[in-house]
Parts: sequence; C-alpha cells; structure tokens
Amino acid sequence: MPPIAAPRGTNDLLPDASSAWRWLHETHARVVESFGYRLVDSPIFEHTELFERGVGTSTDVVEKQMYTFTDRGGRSLTLRPEGTAGVLRAVMAGNALAEVRPARVHYAGPMFRSERPQKGRYHQFQQVGIECIGERAAELDVEVIEAGWRFITALGLADVDIQVNSLGDLEDRQRFREALLAYYRPLADRLCDDCRRRLEVNPLRLLDCKRDAAPAAAAPLITDSLSATSAAYFDDVLSGLRAAGIAATLNPRLVRGLDYYAHTAFEYWHGSLQGSQNALGGGGRYDGLAEVLGFASTPATGYALGVERLLLVARQMATVPPSPPACEAVVCSVEPPQAAIAADLARQLREAGLRVVLDALDRKLDRKLRAADRLGASAAVIVGEDEARDGMATVRDLRQRTQRRVGVAGLVAAVRATLASPVAG
Ligand code: AMP
Repeated sequence: MPPIAAPRGTNDLLPDASSAWRWLHETHARVVESFGYRLVDSPIFEHTELFERGVGTSTDVVEKQMYTFTDRGGRSLTLRPEGTAGVLRAVMAGNALAEVRPARVHYAGPMFRSERPQKGRYHQFQQVGIECIGERAAELDVEVIEAGWRFITALGLADVDIQVNSLGDLEDRQRFREALLAYYRPLADRLCDDCRRRLEVNPLRLLDCKRDAAPAAAAPLITDSLSATSAAYFDDVLSGLRAAGIAATLNPRLVRGLDYYAHTAFEYWHGSLQGSQNALGGGGRYDGLAEVLGFASTPATGYALGVERLLLVARQMATVPPSPPACEAVVCSVEPPQAAIAADLARQLREAGLRVVLDALDRKLDRKLRAADRLGASAAVIVGEDEARDGMATVRDLRQRTQRRVGVAGLVAAVRATLASPVAG
C-alpha cells in the first residue's frame, strides 16, 4: 500500500522550517503590538453567508475558490478564505468597540482557497493581518500602511514597493462605474468570457482581468472620478505617508471591486515575486463591510499579508535567522543502570532553564554522542558507573572536544560555563 500523501496545495511545517515561521509570527506580533494592536482569533470556518456577503458573490474567491460543506445539521459552512470578515464579525459581536474606539486587533492563521496550486499559491496558506475598526481617519490608514511596512522591513525585506490608490466613496465609485461601462461596452465583443460577465455584475473587476491586460490599459481612472472631499482625504493619506518617511507609488489602476471598500487601497509589492503574484499582501479601508454583515455601520481599515510569500522572499534574500539547535545539552547514561540518575540530572538542568534532551536509551555512548552532535548540542553530560558511584557527572564540551568531571551539585554551573565558552575556531 503506498503511503498516504498530503492533500494537493498544502504544506507541512517541519522542525527545520518552523523556526523561520515562528520568527515571522513573533516579528509581526512585536511590530504591530508596538502600535497597540492586540491578538484576536476567530473560527477557521464560518457561515458561508459571511463570505458571500463579506467578500462578495461576484469575486473569484467566492465564485470559484471556497471550501464549502454542509454540516450534520444541514448548515452551509465555509473554511475561511480570508481573515477580515471573520475578525470584524468577532469584534462587532463581542462588542469590543464599547470599550475602546478604534479597536486595534491583529490575527494570524490558515486561510483556504481552492486555486490552481503553483509556486507561492496554495490551497491552505497562512496570513498575518491587522484591523483598525471604528473610525474613519486618514491617520489610521497611514498607521496601518506604516505598521505593515515596518513589519516587512523588520523581516529584512528591503525594496518593498508600496502601491496606493483611492477608491473614493460610494458616489465616486458610481460615477467611475458609469465611466467604465461607457468605455467597455463598445469593446464587449473583444472581451474574455469572464469580463463579459463582469460587465454586467461588477465592472470594477474588469480592471483585474488576468487574461488580457490591453483593454484595462486605456480604461478611465478612478482618480478622475473622485469628489473634492475624497481627493482631499487621499491627499491627507499621501502627506501622512510622506511625514512617516514612507515612499509610496501612486497606482490609479489598483482596485478592489467591492462596494464596501472605500478610499484607501494599497498593496505591498516585492520585485523578487513574479508577475501577478508580486504582492506580499495588501489592504485598505472597508467602511461598508460591517453594515453588509448586518452590524451597525462602522468604518475600518486593515491589511493581510501572505506568510508563505514573505518567507519565500526572506529566504531568497537570506534574511531568515539560522534555526537554533534542538537543545543545548544532551544528558547520556552510559548503561541502563544509570538511566534514572541521568533522567534526574536532565530534570535539574531543565528546571534551571536549559533546553535538554535525555538520552537514556540502551545503546552505545558513541552513538549517543554522535546524535548529540546532530541535535546541535554544545554540551553532553555523561553518567557512567563511576560517576554514579561518586555522585559526579562528566561534562563534555562538544565543540572543543574537552571534558571534565564535576560534582552533581555544581552541574548546572558547569554546563552553563560550557555553553558560554567560545567556539573553537
Ligand atoms: P488577498 O486577500 O487575496 O489580497 O491576499 C493577500 C495575500 O495573501 C496575497 O498577497 C498573498 O501573499 C497571500 N495569498 C493569497 N492567496 C494565496 C494562496 N492561494 N496561496 C498563498 N498565498 C496566498
């Protein structure tokens, strides 16, 4: 029987890769918590309706990519394809805004989309993100863009290109929609099937066409449809970014084709990512979403970044810190009668805060020491018959290949000294 394989489009996280993953998550938490964002978590599955309404039925994500199933009670549930709708639902339902406004929250976790798997695009992937919920202010858009930028920079990824645009408010977009329809209708025969449908359902998404970029190249720009108020809001965002020392590229073709998006939209691009997948992530202001989900109208802004893509770029740029070894010291019994003493010494060392593997298996000391090397340990503590009899242990420096005997009372200090000793050159 062949061994069972992982499902297509998924990744396993094994020990050698997990420290990079943890580094990324810890860096994200540290950076966004320095802005006052606090961790939240929401379910991995939600009522399908949350995403139909919250992401939009005319999007590729909802039309083609959701993992939807019926539970035993006949309810339609969906594995979350993105984090914002669920986090907003959680914050609103938990009445978090009654205490502080805006609520600043961050999240991290797996998302699910059944896209065609390819490099940097999976069925299960991870995102980290923040949401700032409860106020509309250009300063908050700037804060969110800056927090994401500081996080990416803290990962050592220089040369991030921040693309920004304004989608205006509902009226601006209505004007823009009409301008788009006037432009696209005469071209209808030349459009791909998807775009002909978009023409009817969601004209803004015509600009996202991945099959033929030519029609979009000459299409009207949303920036030309902005009212004076919306244009002034966007100017405030841009000057806020300048004041924060953040270079951003104006991209009037960056759109998010849903009604509840408003004003600021942005993406973080990195040159080392190819083509349509050059975005590490993005976000924007989504003032209409809470209402679409049935809550009181509540402005909000946020971003989501793809963990696999960030790690891909960090690996390419060699900014990932080396994995720490599995342990600092290995405690080895020489023969089975010393196993219990070795276990006790390992416990003492762990209580003193050291990372310690116990090797009390019935196998040769040579093998145990080779295994200790492979674990990356710097010290081995060896308990043989003599040591056990005399209340001693041998502390071996695995880097310098020296060793000495110490009384068990001085073991912690001796192991610490060995760990602190300079590595032989
Ligand atoms: P989106 O919610 O589509 O704007 O996605 C935000 C970010 O999540 C993207 O820029 C990617 O970094 C990441 N992402 C989205 N879909 C996938 C996927 N299928 N596989 C891996 N990463 C993804």
